[in-house]
Amino acid sequence: MQVKYIFITGGVVSSLGKGLTSASIGNLLESRGLKIAMLKLDPYLNVDPGTMNPFQHGEVYVTDDGAETDLDLGHYYRYTNTPLSKASNATSGQIYNTVIKRERKGEYLGQTVQVIPHVTDEIKKRILDCSIQEEGTNLVLVEIGGTVGDIESLPFLEAIRQFRNERPHDCINIHLTYVPYLKAAGEVKTKPTQHSTGELRSIGIMPDIILCRSENVLSDQIKEKIALFCNVSQDSVIDEPDVEKSIYEVPLQLSRQKLDDTIIKRLSLSPPKSESNTAIWEKIIHTISYPKEKVTIGVVGKYIDHQDAYKSVIESLNHAALSLDAELKVRYIDADKVSEKSFLGCDGFLVPGGFGERGWTGKIQTARFCREKKIPYFGICLGMQIMAIEFARHVLDLSDSHSTEIDPNTPYPIISLLSEQENILNMGGTMRLGAYPCKLDPASRAFKAYNVEEIQERHRHRYEFNNAFKSDFEKNGFLFSGIWEEGMLAEIVEIVDHPWMVGTQFHPEFKSKPSAAHPLFKSFISAAIKEQKDG
Ligand code: GLN
Repeated sequence: MQVKYIFITGGVVSSLGKGLTSASIGNLLESRGLKIAMLKLDPYLNVDPGTMNPFQHGEVYVTDDGAETDLDLGHYYRYTNTPLSKASNATSGQIYNTVIKRERKGEYLGQTVQVIPHVTDEIKKRILDCSIQEEGTNLVLVEIGGTVGDIESLPFLEAIRQFRNERPHDCINIHLTYVPYLKAAGEVKTKPTQHSTGELRSIGIMPDIILCRSENVLSDQIKEKIALFCNVSQDSVIDEPDVEKSIYEVPLQLSRQKLDDTIIKRLSLSPPKSESNTAIWEKIIHTISYPKEKVTIGVVGKYIDHQDAYKSVIESLNHAALSLDAELKVRYIDADKVSEKSFLGCDGFLVPGGFGERGWTGKIQTARFCREKKIPYFGICLGMQIMAIEFARHVLDLSDSHSTEIDPNTPYPIISLLSEQENILNMGGTMRLGAYPCKLDPASRAFKAYNVEEIQERHRHRYEFNNAFKSDFEKNGFLFSGIWEEGMLAEIVEIVDHPWMVGTQFHPEFKSKPSAAHPLFKSFISAAIKEQKDG
C-alpha cells in the first residue's frame, strides 16, 4: 500500500500544544489499526537540542539510538508506537550541515547550491527516510516546528509543498491555529486564523483540516465561518478547547469530532478497524475524577519555573500515580532555596538530571533528609550521583567527596569521568547516550519493580560512579543493584536499610507511557503512598 503523509503546521502563536495534538492524532489513527511513523522538523539552526539551555528549549528527549531530540518526541512515545530514532527528528542545522558537507566534497559537481532545490531535496529525503524506518508503515505524520510566518520555517514549508505536489493523492495538511475570545468585545475572533491560513495559501499550501485551539468549545456558527474563509469543508474544522482536567482529554476531544474519520476519508485509507478506541483515555479521566489516593512529590531542580524542562519526569510520575488510582500533586522545590521548610508536606522526593554546579547544595540536603528520615527518594542521573556523594560525605565520612564535574581536585572523586578513572581507556569526556543493557541484582528493590533480570534504559551523561570506592560503599549498606556488565558501570543504586531510596544513572522517564507506567516510577509512588499512610 502507498504510504500516506499528514503535515501538521501551526499558526497564530506558538505554545498551542502542536506536539501533543500530533501525538493524539497518531494515537487515534493507530487505534484504527494503521501503522504510523512520526517525524518532527525543527526550524532552528542548532544541529540538535543537546546544546540548548533547558530554560529555552525544555527537556532533551533521548532515543534508544542515542539521538538528542526535541521534547515532542516524548509525546510521540507516550501516545503512540511510532519507531523513534535519529530518523524521527531533523533540524535546519542538520539539513544545512548535510548540504554544506556535500558541497565541500564537491558532490554537487559545480552547481550553485541553493535552498531550492538542494535544501528542500534534503528535507524531502528526511521525510522519505522516516517512512521506510519500518516495514508496513501506512502513514507518516510530519510536524513542522514553529509558526507559519516565521522566516526560518520557510524551507520546510516549501519542501512539503513540493512533496505534496509530487504526490497529490497521498498527502494532507492540518493547520493548528488559535481562536481567541476577546473579553472586551465578548466575542470569539476568527481573523487570526483567517490570516494564518491566508499566509499558508500564499506559499502554496492549502490546509485540508483546521484545528482550532480555543478557550471554550466553538459554536457551529464560528466553525462555519472558519470553513468559509479558510476554504475547507465544515467537518474539517475541529475545535480543541482548553482541557479541564488533563491533557489526556485531547485524544477524546478529537475522536468525538471524528477527526480520524475525516483524515481516513481524505487520504482514501481503508483501516482495519471501523472505529477509534479511546478506552484508555476514558479510564484515565475517570481515575483523575475519582482518585482513591493522593500523593505529593517534591521535585528538586533548578529549572522549576520552566515547566517543559522536566516534561517526561512529571509525565512519568503522573502515569505511575494513575496506575495506582492516585492523584498526584507535584511540588516544585527550587534547588537554590532548599530549607527544612521545603520538605514539609511531601510524601517523597525526586531529584532529576542536571548539569553544572548550581543547586548542588540543596539537592545534597534533600538526599540527606530522605536518607536520615527514611522518606522515599528517587534520584535520576545527577540525582543518583548526588545520592552517592551524600552517602560518601555523611556515612563514609569522606567530607570533601565530590563529582569532578564540580570539583576536579576533590580528594574523593566518587563521581568522575571514565578517562579520570583507573584502568579505563578511550572513553573520554564524551556523553554516554542512548540505550544500554543493565543486569539487576535479584535481591534488590529494582528487580522487584521490573521483575526481569535484564533491562535496557537510555542514558545522557558524562560522569560515572567511580568503582574505586565501590567496596567501601557496599560495606556500609549501599547496594549496586543494576550494572552494565560489559562496561562495569553502576546503573542503579539503593540504600539497603531504607524504605525506598533508589538512584539510576539512566533516565527511566523516557520510557513511561500512560498505558504502561514505568516500573521504577510505580514502585517509587507506591512507596510514597505508603509513607503518607504510615509516616
Ligand atoms: N551532569 C551529570 C553528568 O554529566 C549528570 C547528567 C544528567 O543528569 N543528565 O554525568
